[in-house]
Amino acid sequence: MSKEKVYIIPCSGIGKVFGSIGRETAYIVVNELAKGKSALECLPLIVKGKKEVIDRLKLNKVIAIDGCPLKCSYNNLIENIGKVDAQFMTTDIVKENRDLRPESSIIPVGEQTKNLSTKLAEKVAQKVDDLLKQKEESE
Ligand code: SF4
Repeated sequence: MSKEKVYIIPCSGIGKVFGSIGRETAYIVVNELAKGKSALECLPLIVKGKKEVIDRLKLNKVIAIDGCPLKCSYNNLIENIGKVDAQFMTTDIVKENRDLRPESSIIPVGEQTKNLSTKLAEKVAQKVDDLLKQKEESE
């Protein structure tokens, strides 16, 4: 297994279930589906321009997950890191799964919200593998 990690940056979307799906997705990726191959980074540190974080992200693959069209993760990564290697929108997974309606509850999130997060996490984990392979091939 590669020692390289892909960094997952969910938007900080508090207060809305679409933000919760982003966070849940990131936890499932980092703790289960792509454990050891991915890591979380804190969006506010990126926005603040913390040097060690910015330098690390510039050297590694980065995935943004956003909860609405404002795309806070994607836009702040572009502004501060200068790139995003892949981006996902939680609204897309909801559109693709019309049979699952996310509950409005944020704490705790509901079962359908968890199911949607798992479905999105499967896509993100696949992208982690693709990006690691791409990085290995380019070195
Ligand atoms: S992308 Fe939307 S949901 Fe996420 S932090 Fe920004 S405004 Fe909130």
